[in-house]
Amino acid sequence: MKKLESFIESLPNISNPDQYGVYPLSINQVGQMWVFIVNKGLKDVIIAVGEGSSQFQGTPFNVGDVSCIEADLTHENGELIRSLFPFTKPIPVLNKMRSFGLGDRLGIAGPGHIKIFKKYDAYPVFVQQSIRELNLTHRTYEEVLDSATFFVYRDGYKDGFGADGDHLKKPEEIEYALRLGFTMITLDCSDYIRNDVSFLSDDEIDRICMIDESTKSKYLNKAFHAGTSTIEFSEKDLQKCILIYGKAIDYAVLIYHKYFSNPNHQVNFEISIDETATPTSPAQHYFVANELSLRGVHLDTMAPRFIGEFQKGVDYVGDIKEFEKELMIHADIARHFGYKLSIHSGSDKFSIFELIGKHTRGHFHVKTAGTNWLEAMRLVAIYDPNLYREIHKYALSMFNEAKKFYHVTTDLNKIADIDTLKDSDLVHLFSQNDARQLIHITYGYILNAKNSNDIYLFKDKLYTLWREKAEAYAELLEKHIGKHLDLLYLGFNQ
Ligand code: ZN
Repeated sequence: MKKLESFIESLPNISNPDQYGVYPLSINQVGQMWVFIVNKGLKDVIIAVGEGSSQFQGTPFNVGDVSCIEADLTHENGELIRSLFPFTKPIPVLNKMRSFGLGDRLGIAGPGHIKIFKKYDAYPVFVQQSIRELNLTHRTYEEVLDSATFFVYRDGYKDGFGADGDHLKKPEEIEYALRLGFTMITLDCSDYIRNDVSFLSDDEIDRICMIDESTKSKYLNKAFHAGTSTIEFSEKDLQKCILIYGKAIDYAVLIYHKYFSNPNHQVNFEISIDETATPTSPAQHYFVANELSLRGVHLDTMAPRFIGEFQKGVDYVGDIKEFEKELMIHADIARHFGYKLSIHSGSDKFSIFELIGKHTRGHFHVKTAGTNWLEAMRLVAIYDPNLYREIHKYALSMFNEAKKFYHVTTDLNKIADIDTLKDSDLVHLFSQNDARQLIHITYGYILNAKNSNDIYLFKDKLYTLWREKAEAYAELLEKHIGKHLDLLYLGFNQ
């Protein structure tokens, strides 16, 4: 190592740490080649040294008679890093005891996330984006995957991470994620879930749903036991299950057998039924799980919609006692069928994490996404108050537009007038739910806003600031996401 260090120091430009610093944990050897990442001010680059370095696409240079290359963090170079260093490639993680999804919409959260998961045994899913998020951020799955690969390589995270094609609905979306080596797919069945049924009268339900005899004998006048829970179906329950979930189950079965039933494919399968008008009752959860199981579907995780509200970026809204009661049954059902519960919109649900850890007995998958964006904006409020003020005002102007896509109960009147706030108080907006949701749901508008000359209003300035304050952002994330994990672990680590 000593020899390498002096060799690295002898490379052109690298001796000036202000411009060109080697990330010490990124130094790896493969065959006769050394590969590491250096900070080149506004960007990171790969340096490969020695025999084989020409496999990277970049600018060659020589040090003495040693050939080297400086390579950008492109998809091609990401592919090469993944093939040379397998720890930078995603692995299936839903089948592990516990896992935690981290949607890094901006491609900057990796270092903070890595700090956290060096401390916990939950497996991180560093790559986790929905198609909607890709569209709003103008990113591709290639970029999302590469971003995780390079951070994992750079910061020496070698314990394995997952890649989630999140909330995918169409076969071509699933194929896209699988082609790139994603290790889990979250199938969103919401297009096949009938949301109107919960609002129909009993008579109307009778009119549109006749249950066949074999289904009746399968479910009625029976008690199903799952752990300590007992699930029973009334005829009305059963009709609703069939009406609400019947088509979604058919679709999940089709997708599963097309893409996931081949045992050679090491890809986890999650089904999400959380995007519905009403909560998934325990009986409905049991029905969906049972039908899928009877039809040969092996689930790794399922995301029901829990009772109460899981609004974006704020704590759980609802009766915690009720939540706990139903969570216990949901957890029993999941254990009975051999999968983990997946908790969607899991950002900032601090008042229930301990219960989730407890009743799942530490077997869970929790997804977070928007809170990483909110922490990035908290950073802006701290370090560039003027930029934050501009963005905040812009967000207010776009709020009604953005609200169409989210279920939030934000009251803009409760947000302090930003012109009356001192710079040092701006950060407190991130402790106020309405202000959090304002910034949370307008992220796409903020990132995409352009002036009449087609220049981004905020995006470039934001990325420059996030790069300059990368260390501070990592610390914010470590603290904030760390709090999620602390509480989850408290539930089962006693
Ligand atoms: Zn969801």
